[in-house]
Amino acid sequence: MGLAYNVMDKKRPAVFLDRDGVLTEEKGYVSAINELCIFAYAGECIAKIREKGYYSIVITNQSGIARGLFTENDLHEMNQYLQDAIGIDAVYYCPHHPEGTVTQYKKTCECRKPGIGLLKQAQRDFNIDMSRSYMIGDRASDIVAGQKAGVKTILLESGYGTAKLEAEVSPDYVCNDLRDVVAIL
Ligand SMILES: [Zn+2]
Repeated sequence: MGLAYNVMDKKRPAVFLDRDGVLTEEKGYVSAINELCIFAYAGECIAKIREKGYYSIVITNQSGIARGLFTENDLHEMNQYLQDAIGIDAVYYCPHHPEGTVTQYKKTCECRKPGIGLLKQAQRDFNIDMSRSYMIGDRASDIVAGQKAGVKTILLESGYGTAKLEAEVSPDYVCNDLRDVVAIL
């Protein structure tokens, strides 16, 4: 018989992570692998997150594509590099922006955070238990998206810094960086 139940039917929670300022240094638009500076502690933190039974899923706004700064293919290369380096389960990205210069990506969408299109897509793809999940980010848009999607939220100081937040938000937790997040889970 083997296992009496199908493990795919068992819902697991996820830690949804913004990329820039959370896993990598915040430096505006990163358009190639050689500009992607992964925090030294990121791999170890992702390993711990997965050990605790969470999926680790990146949710990132990449409007540099709509602005013509890099291509979707460039981003795929960066995503693969990030996955190989720190072992995340998946990367979901929004290439759009309402003021984009590349026609194909110039639009108002539901996937750009604080929209929750990417979170909902990941929830469907991985059968995620949102009530036990977290959204981790360094910007107000990350926190708002997480709250709208019904997950707990953690604001990090390791990106832009909370002093420069673009809007007032009330996250469940505020931490210095990803290393402090692991203790909360
Ligand atoms: Zn989008």
